[in-house]
Amino acid sequence: MSKYWNKKINDAEPYVAGEQPKEGRKIIKLNTNENPYAPSPKVAEVMASFDIAELRLYPNTDGGKLVQTIADREGVSPSQVFCGNGSDEVLALCFQTFFEKDGNTDLPVLTPDFSYSFYPVYESFYDIKSKKIPLREDFRLEKTDYEGVPNCGIAIANPNAPTSRAISLDDISYICEKNPDSVVIIDEAYAYFAEPYVTAVTLLPKYPNLCVVRTTSKSYSLAGLRIGYAIASEELIEGLKRARDSFNSYPTDRLAQIVAAAAISDEEYHRECRAKIIATRKYTEDALKALGFTMPESSANFVFARPPKGLDAGLLYKNLREKGILVRYFDKDVLRDYLRITIGTDEEMEALVAACTEEIKNVQNS
Ligand code: PMP
Repeated sequence: MSKYWNKKINDAEPYVAGEQPKEGRKIIKLNTNENPYAPSPKVAEVMASFDIAELRLYPNTDGGKLVQTIADREGVSPSQVFCGNGSDEVLALCFQTFFEKDGNTDLPVLTPDFSYSFYPVYESFYDIKSKKIPLREDFRLEKTDYEGVPNCGIAIANPNAPTSRAISLDDISYICEKNPDSVVIIDEAYAYFAEPYVTAVTLLPKYPNLCVVRTTSKSYSLAGLRIGYAIASEELIEGLKRARDSFNSYPTDRLAQIVAAAAISDEEYHRECRAKIIATRKYTEDALKALGFTMPESSANFVFARPPKGLDAGLLYKNLREKGILVRYFDKDVLRDYLRITIGTDEEMEALVAACTEEIKNVQNS
């Protein structure tokens, strides 16, 4: 609280990001769904040949070559692509641009309960009403729950976070069709880890109200670079540009644009990296299940695991932390019975499994 802040800031409940440990102590970091592998070698090449003098000049507002690279990769027109400073910024602009209808501020945005914890932050910061649609058993999203509910928009992470479950393209089509006057945001931060890979981008020709949001932070190993993007109809993209240019005309810098473009162009490296993570996820799921953990089937680069009876998730989180292994713990509602564990390298996951085995033995011996 401060007398110098306005009411909005005094009332704000900001997003709390996963812990970023201080340099020095060796930590196995499995708490923010980062990629354990380095970005494509093409990134180093473009950085080495980057002409520093170019930094004198403002970057291309729309993202320049990056937009073309994304459009080529996705088979859409460059006018259907919008780039921002991480998908968090793109999502924030989406909430500001699409979520209110005809000045009616009583209509809520529909989001699954539970989902990405930034959505409620945007809702309260931008004064948008919200309605949480409960997930069904085992965190399953039921498409018919999004039918006939008055709303000013819908935001769904697919695969969902922190639950790791994915819905089908048929479900997304259904939700878009039943809500033709609302924008439906599909946040595909983790889509590249689903097997098989599917994307709502293929539905864009059918649904002018669909907005797919992506990031380079996860599958492209570029969380430190801050590039996210939206792919949608020209009409929606034009709206996002109006919002951006009322806030910050240059959200993506020159170096970030070429680095992200290099990573996105290297499809082979991307494929290999994803395959490694998917294989390690399988190992992790099998090993944790053998220890008595339960979890929904993951389509993401993390698992949402419930420890076996007798082992409290909050305590396990603390004990793992003491052992130098950071995972994510949400101390609320039913989520407090689970840990969200990012898939790291094989060695890191073996260390996690060994630490969990030890914790279970301690519980059994106590
Ligand atoms: N969407 C979801 C579902 C996420 O989990 C995250 C990562 N915290 C983001 C979007 C934001 O990613 P970034 O801003 O790094 O692009």
